[in-house]
Amino acid sequence: MTAESASSPRPFHYPQPGSALHCGKVSLDALARRHGTPLYVYSADQIVERLRMFDEALAGRDHLVCYAVKANSALAIVKLLADKGAGFDIVSGGELERVLAAAPEAAGRVVFSGVGKTAAEIDRALTADILEFNVESEAELELLAARAKKLKRKTRFALRVNPDVFAETHPYISTGLREHKFGIDIRRALAIYRSVAGHRWLEPHGVSVHIGSQIRSADPFGAALERLNKLVRQLRREGIALKSVDAGGGLGIDYHGGAFDAAARVREYAVAIDRALEGFEGRLLLEPGRFLVAQAGALVARVLQVKRNGSKTFVITDAAMNDLIRPALYQAYHEIVPVKRRAGRPRTVDVVGPVCETGDFFARDRKLAPVEPGDLVALLDAGAYGMAQSSNYNTRLRPAEVLVEGGKARLIRRRETMADLLAPEML
Ligand SMILES: *Cc1c(COP(=O)(O)O)cnc(C)c1O
Repeated sequence: MTAESASSPRPFHYPQPGSALHCGKVSLDALARRHGTPLYVYSADQIVERLRMFDEALAGRDHLVCYAVKANSALAIVKLLADKGAGFDIVSGGELERVLAAAPEAAGRVVFSGVGKTAAEIDRALTADILEFNVESEAELELLAARAKKLKRKTRFALRVNPDVFAETHPYISTGLREHKFGIDIRRALAIYRSVAGHRWLEPHGVSVHIGSQIRSADPFGAALERLNKLVRQLRREGIALKSVDAGGGLGIDYHGGAFDAAARVREYAVAIDRALEGFEGRLLLEPGRFLVAQAGALVARVLQVKRNGSKTFVITDAAMNDLIRPALYQAYHEIVPVKRRAGRPRTVDVVGPVCETGDFFARDRKLAPVEPGDLVALLDAGAYGMAQSSNYNTRLRPAEVLVEGGKARLIRRRETMADLLAPEML
């Protein structure tokens, strides 16, 4: 059951034993009645609080938190974070357009990562005068130089290096080993910086790393940054003074909830990074995604049916894998709680959606509080890589999204309509 104390890692709670689950001061039951289901609900207050944790833990060091837009790219969330001074880590031209649409004043706080940037995307980012391109290969550096020359804009770049550190996480979201497609072998980096020293259109601005996602120990971050710092020192001896070190994202949360102390985790992470960067006086960039938004969000769904097949019980909800694919894609765990609690003992059930795939499940053999058809359930910790990875598979309309700020809830994305879905098609 969700913790209800002030130190809870989640904004979702039951104010009284008999009341519905709330996000802050707003009842999820009321939101579901107003906006329908499936519905994503996010707490703006928690997102801002998480951002502040980084700022507090790194108060002694020049730093900029560049929120990884891909975790949740809702315009309203981009705007919320921009207003609090955050920068952004983007991995596509589309994400750049989101930042420019929501917070054009934040363009100078954007870092552009990703292994396959097109010339058109680079041009757009050059014109927007973003903070830094995180370059992932020598070929990309050549392309960047060519575009910069063409547009006559000097461009700030960082090499995204691959530090060859192992981060224990799901294999699909581990990225810091030499066998992965990401980054440039750190042993090659020195030679590449040297090769463009004094280049007319390329300014070596920083060095970056991103070792993976959902990493719950500070150790691999420290190890990676020690290697980066060593490279920075070597470069400095050669007269190449980098202004930024980008530690990437990847800080994990505890999906099993419990006693997770978010502030303590950020402090531990900050200490590891700070120690590894001893002697570096430039600016530290961070690219957290999940850590800022995951626990701020829940996916609210209605129970359509409770179906028994032999010894198994299936709770079928109106949300499905197209709305939240993490369980199917990464075997991810999401705690599921009823919005209104009923008396009775928990039952072991599978919670599934209506999509025609056996992989369409949210939980298997899970002890779930009793629910009946028509009840609402909330899938917790769904604020990151939920809506952002949603699709229209099975011609399902994607959920609406609501942002809760204090006692107020605001629709930030209306539910899709069939007209939205069919618009691009031709007969
Ligand atoms: C995905 C990604 C992030 C964010 O990762 P989280 O695990 O959500 O913090 C940051 N930087 C880069 C380059 C990424 O690809």
